Amino acid sequence: MVVSYSIPLATSAVVVWLLVAMTPNPSSSTPEISAVAPRSITALAEDIARQVARIAELPEVQAAFNSFLAHEADLMARQVEIVTIPAPPFHESNRASWLKTHFSELGLREVHQDGSGNVLGIFPGGDNRYHSRRKKKGGQKYVAISAHLDTVFPPDTRIEIRREGKKLYGPGISDNGAGLAALLALAQALRESRIRTPAPILFIGNVGEEGEGNLRGMRHIFADKQNGKDPWWRDSIAYLLVLDGAGTDTIVCQALGSRRFEVTVRGPGGHSWSDFGVPNPVVVLASAIEKFSQTPVPANPKTTFNVGTVRGGTSVNSIPEIASMHVDIRSASSIEIDRVEQALRRAVQDAVTGANSSPAKRARGNASSTADLTQEIRLIGDRPAAELPPSSRMLQVIRAVDMHLGNRAHIQRASTDANIPLAMGREALAIGGGGTGAGAHTLHEWYDPSGRELGLKRILLTVLMLAESAR
Ligand SMILES: [Zn+2]
Repeated sequence: MVVSYSIPLATSAVVVWLLVAMTPNPSSSTPEISAVAPRSITALAEDIARQVARIAELPEVQAAFNSFLAHEADLMARQVEIVTIPAPPFHESNRASWLKTHFSELGLREVHQDGSGNVLGIFPGGDNRYHSRRKKKGGQKYVAISAHLDTVFPPDTRIEIRREGKKLYGPGISDNGAGLAALLALAQALRESRIRTPAPILFIGNVGEEGEGNLRGMRHIFADKQNGKDPWWRDSIAYLLVLDGAGTDTIVCQALGSRRFEVTVRGPGGHSWSDFGVPNPVVVLASAIEKFSQTPVPANPKTTFNVGTVRGGTSVNSIPEIASMHVDIRSASSIEIDRVEQALRRAVQDAVTGANSSPAKRARGNASSTADLTQEIRLIGDRPAAELPPSSRMLQVIRAVDMHLGNRAHIQRASTDANIPLAMGREALAIGGGGTGAGAHTLHEWYDPSGRELGLKRILLTVLMLAESAR
């Protein structure tokens, strides 16, 4: 038997008006929420809290809750299996194939890989016509739920998962083994408990979240043009819930912006004795770093910069031909990122100009080895800063779900896949997949699944609530 439920969205005209006023407008960068009065927000919050309580009591939802505990051992086995498949940046394909097989086994429809390598599958909800309606303009809206496939670890990293008591140790076990496991748990629970949702759910295992992946998987999903034969998802996704890492204590709804550069200084190089006086790219880069590192940054909005790597040179008795560095700039504000970027560009330009006009170089005259130094500043990563407005429906929903479950969570700013839709003025946030973990991005990473079902209940209730208003 297939059970379906229907929840009245709103009980008064005021609340109906509020919901309309709070619906994100994809064509505008800021959702239209300014007209919402504080007292009405309280009324809306109470209404959402009642909906959460009603959905949580439904027999099929209770069955799903029970299935989380019943399947914990299987889920852990799957988590270890997927984490053992290496997925360094730009090499996620083996892990993607594994996920594709499991999406299909769990009954998701239209399981496929898109042009960027993302794995997608659809839980159709209660409406079998979802496929044809998606193609119409302004057609079916989806609730999307995603977990990134990639890890930060290079291809030669030895991946071994070992168990100590309840804890599992191994690179990627939590980030994003916990998120991927939660994605699978949700698909399984929806199917087994025969829940029908008013809107279909789009499951995404995406590539390119970490480091130089630069959110390429999520950028592809939200691209403003159709990518080859891939479906054009951008305007069909009403909400994106990102599952990243473990835990239940955070709501990442503020996107930390970052911009990353590779700075390269090149010169003629030469012999350390006979070509003395030829400008030295390593010295020039050091001088640029010295100047750049004096750049003042505000504590609020928090803004940071880092010179992460420095490379260059041939040998101890050679004047280098090349020197380069990687620079990371982060801020809650795009304006501050722009300002620090300008400081970096000025520091590099001044150091290069200074070396090219130095007395030592001029003294060498027009010899070929006195050719000017050149500089190149290449953008290697750009993640926009943005945030979900406090009165957005998605934030109200997760708050109400947490209250219902007795879960305490705080708002956090971070760089996640949610940056992309948030920067477009769309509703998105990132939460953990339950359980606990630490040591992300290190070889000492661990995950403890104790209490994971709280995180899974949180995810299920949030998705079911969002599916109510994604039509
Ligand atoms: Zn992650």
